[in-house]
Amino acid sequence: MNGHRQAHEDDESVGHGGAGHGLGAFGIVDTTLREGEQFAGAHYTTAQKGAIASALDAFGVEYLELTSPVASPRSFRDAQALVHQGLRARLLVHVRCTLADARAAVATGVHGVNLFYGTSQLLRQHSHRKSLNEIVDEAGEVISLVRESGREVRFSSEDAFRSDPAELRDLFLAIDALGVDRVGVADTVGVATPRQVYALVSGLRAAGVRAGIEFHGHDDSGCAVANSFAALEAGARFLDTTVLGIGERNGITPLGSLVARLYTVDPALVGKYALRLLAPLDHLVAGIVGVEIPFNTPITGSRAFTHKAGVHTNAVLRDPRTYEAIDPTHFGVDRSLEISHSLTGRAAVRSRATQLGLSLDDSRLRALTTQIKSLGDTRRLTMDDVDRLLLGDNARRGDGAGPPGPPIGAPTMRGEP
Ligand SMILES: [Zn+2]
Repeated sequence: MNGHRQAHEDDESVGHGGAGHGLGAFGIVDTTLREGEQFAGAHYTTAQKGAIASALDAFGVEYLELTSPVASPRSFRDAQALVHQGLRARLLVHVRCTLADARAAVATGVHGVNLFYGTSQLLRQHSHRKSLNEIVDEAGEVISLVRESGREVRFSSEDAFRSDPAELRDLFLAIDALGVDRVGVADTVGVATPRQVYALVSGLRAAGVRAGIEFHGHDDSGCAVANSFAALEAGARFLDTTVLGIGERNGITPLGSLVARLYTVDPALVGKYALRLLAPLDHLVAGIVGVEIPFNTPITGSRAFTHKAGVHTNAVLRDPRTYEAIDPTHFGVDRSLEISHSLTGRAAVRSRATQLGLSLDDSRLRALTTQIKSLGDTRRLTMDDVDRLLLGDNARRGDGAGPPGPPIGAPTMRGEP
């Protein structure tokens, strides 16, 4: 049992966390194909599941979690089909902790089985009415079945943050002794705070839980990313995500947001992932489930790298690091500067004039910037308004250089719509 677990500790699939920040190696368990299928807008076809799996695999997540094969006949067939897709990521199915579900899970041919059980007082009273001892006894049989099939096995406690911490610790120690690869802590209703997550995960480690700890956090109160990061700081090894955070209600930790969180600590933490594939991945899933990527989404949101105020654009033109903690070029996305508004500044206007092939002296630049600011106070301006102003001024002054278009690598200059 120990050897089994030790092999997993050294598993290449979870990568290495890098140094200096105290964070250990971790792996992402992406559950867009399970939790994400529980999102109100998701009705994946078999082909769409294949496309999402391929895109996540190309990005480099370590695990893909799939819907329970007992949920529907097609769920079973789709899991089998994904097994034959030749992905690098390991495939897991998410099933209730029963022998029947575990047998179906094993029959699909996936690499691992994720068992879940409700451990809060509420779920124990209203859902299954089992005592903790009964849960451990039942889980023991199911875990044995999965282990004997040669699959990885995870046992996860639903609603862990409304469960009694002492009971949860005893339960996980008992489950750990049964030889699971991972134990999962789920903030099923999104109530945990980062401090609570840190305390629970580090408490389980201190109590002697040896299996890798996995964290699954819902975003009902906006803490999912912070909670996932706190779990990692506390020693969790596996973090659950979905693309754009889709899932039950308002979903869980978004993959891209977690990547942003880790990148700002140390880009090396996410160096194992194909970062330039994040934006196509977000767009793929947004299209499939019929949502826009929210404007405030880290990295791939439409405004993630848009700079507006004169003070900001001036500094960004000199050195983008002044107002960007994340380098958009690492993710293959564009930076843009908004200059057609009353908060604009001379540096931004000069930059646009240069893109248009114009050379303005300081006094003209000052006058034109003032003019743009005044106009912007009276109405919403567009980039065309600004360009007309700059080019018109230039034509009046008798130098008819035509607009050559922005040079390669220049930030996009964006007007208000
Ligand atoms: Zn969930």
